[in-house]
Amino acid sequence: MSATVIVGAQWGDEGKGKIVDLLAQQSDVVGRYQGGPNAGHTVIVGGETFKFRQLPSGIVSGKLSVLGNGCVVDPEVLLGELDDLEARGLSVEPLRISGNAHLIMPWHIALDGASEKRLGKLQIGTTRRGIGPAYADKAARIGIRVQDLLDAKILRQKIETALAEKNVWLERVYELEPFGLDDVVSTYEAYARRLRPYVADTSLLVDEALAAGKRVLLEGAQGTLLDLDHGTYPFVTSSNPVAGAAATGIGIGPTRIDEVVGVAKAYVTRVGAGPFPSEMEEPIGAEVREHGQEYGTVTGRERRPGWLDLVALRYAVRLNGITSLALTKLDVLSALEELRVCVRYRLPDGSETPNFPAHQSDFHHCEAVLETVDGWNESLDACASLSDLPPAARAYVELVERALGVGVDLVGTGAAREQVLTRA
Ligand code: GDP
Repeated sequence: MSATVIVGAQWGDEGKGKIVDLLAQQSDVVGRYQGGPNAGHTVIVGGETFKFRQLPSGIVSGKLSVLGNGCVVDPEVLLGELDDLEARGLSVEPLRISGNAHLIMPWHIALDGASEKRLGKLQIGTTRRGIGPAYADKAARIGIRVQDLLDAKILRQKIETALAEKNVWLERVYELEPFGLDDVVSTYEAYARRLRPYVADTSLLVDEALAAGKRVLLEGAQGTLLDLDHGTYPFVTSSNPVAGAAATGIGIGPTRIDEVVGVAKAYVTRVGAGPFPSEMEEPIGAEVREHGQEYGTVTGRERRPGWLDLVALRYAVRLNGITSLALTKLDVLSALEELRVCVRYRLPDGSETPNFPAHQSDFHHCEAVLETVDGWNESLDACASLSDLPPAARAYVELVERALGVGVDLVGTGAAREQVLTRA
């Protein structure tokens, strides 16, 4: 048995939570391999809405749920989500956290907000939850890890060492209040008491599950175009959402992954700053934002809607080795008479390309080449499988398949768990 990766094929918010939830029903283990409490997955089950920032969405299904070594963990957010789940009658017992995952510390959050403020107009648009600074410390080899919670003496020492430097930054560079050693230590010791039972060797656990023939599902947060290496840098996240990172972020070899499901909306959205060639004109953008409820799960920020960008999606298929696509929110387009699809980019020299530009300045100055296609202008509520889609909606799905050479195996027609069409 091998592992399946679910990856966002656009700029995040593709509706991965719902697809993970669906595929989690047939899985034994669900893991997250990167990101922190900025995931913002939404899962709606039996009329109840669950929003996860830190936990793997698979926890709703009671599956063994792993926070892999590639994640950064904010204990306060995590414990809040665990308390919320318990209060709603769900078990949190199946959670396992890698000891190698890094902790988000209070100075990461303070520095994240302060550095964004200082960038002024050049802001990246981070969620200001300390995720970027925590990954920066990981790379600088001065991070504090989940396993440090297991030893009070080591925890204190590491906090003391970190504070000696971080407080200088906070006070001298950003003119903020420093953190007190005893305060931070006592807060994190309290977190440690609660989190210790969940800390495990998750790489071994997943390997053993695979060896025992279990099904493992690995969920990415954010999306391909927000990838630190391959996304639209610097307007990216501070980790690697692409499918290849699932191997390092969970601690398995790449040969154990044999399926990659790319999740894409039937259109595109972006949050925050950055170039966006297929951005919709107004008032259509506002209409789609309203129909699609395109407001950030974590931040509540308005998302910018755009026409489906096949150039960017082709790039996502390439980077992730996507083996099948889940196209979500097709229902949101039902309100439009006519749709447009971005088939190529026109570069500043007038040439056109089907491929995503390798260099930032080309991307910043390219224009979307849009093709107009028919809308279906009717509700998709009565559709029970992909073959029930109205002809124009089917043509839209087939256009995507033809352009990318990948099958669309799932189509979302509404927010609830059961509103997904399969080939059946
Ligand atoms: P994620 O971070 O990729 O999981 O994306 P979000 O959960 O932030 O965004 C997806 C939003 O769209 C959530 O509010 C979902 O409930 C909703 N959603 C997911 N799939 C569909 C769909 O097929 N149709 C509609 N109308 N809403 C959907």
